[in-house]
Amino acid sequence: MEEVKMSNMYRWITENGFTYNPLAGECPHSCSYCYMHQLRKRFKNIAKKYTGKLRIDEKELKKNLGSGKTVFVCSTNDLFASEVPQKFIMNILEHINKYPDNTYLFQSKNPIRMYEYFDMFPPNTILGTTIETNRDYKLTKAPPPFERYKAMKFLKKKGGNRFIFMISIEPVLDFDYSELIGWIKDIKPEFISIGADSKGNNLPEPNRAKVLSMISELSLITEIRLKKNIKRILGDEYESCIASYCREG
Ligand code: SF4
Repeated sequence: MEEVKMSNMYRWITENGFTYNPLAGECPHSCSYCYMHQLRKRFKNIAKKYTGKLRIDEKELKKNLGSGKTVFVCSTNDLFASEVPQKFIMNILEHINKYPDNTYLFQSKNPIRMYEYFDMFPPNTILGTTIETNRDYKLTKAPPPFERYKAMKFLKKKGGNRFIFMISIEPVLDFDYSELIGWIKDIKPEFISIGADSKGNNLPEPNRAKVLSMISELSLITEIRLKKNIKRILGDEYESCIASYCREG
């Protein structure tokens, strides 16, 4: 996000891109582990922008987005949450389309709503969702993981030739192995990003062996990008994964 350096951001965004956050107000999904909770407490400008009713930050909306970058759109909110007015989404997509030479990442925990805007996404678009587990731990007001899985499968079927698809498994939560792996194989995303809670939220996490098995199995079907924060679970195995079949992400 623009106001504070985000150590937790995807490496492939920080290295050749930036975040674009024209949607202000508090994210309606209220995930218990959301990194914005702590940022709002620490920084007055963040608290001011990301509390209250959803609204457009007009200055940010008009930002020159340049070209040749990877832009994470609404990294501090969920543009496709059902509470976001259609007009806001249209305004943001219209602005983005003035800069078609960038690649845009849209990530939502309500991915089915992205289908309504299929014709408005710019030419280089990555559509993503978070599937941090297959279980419904009720840590968020967003649609449960099973709904997100079904939506992504549908979106991939409809837009597999036009868009790149990604899944974020972050913060990884304990999961039922066969079911989660089966979902990811079913969606067949172009890449997966795996990360862990870095804010001490005391979440129900899988153990190292389970995460390593998942990484190893999924690396056979797609590209795996590992966030640095997964080191806490993987320990030294993190480096081995990067050296063999994953990349830093
Ligand atoms: S969907 Fe993302 S931005 Fe919204 S509350 Fe959850 S973690 Fe935070």
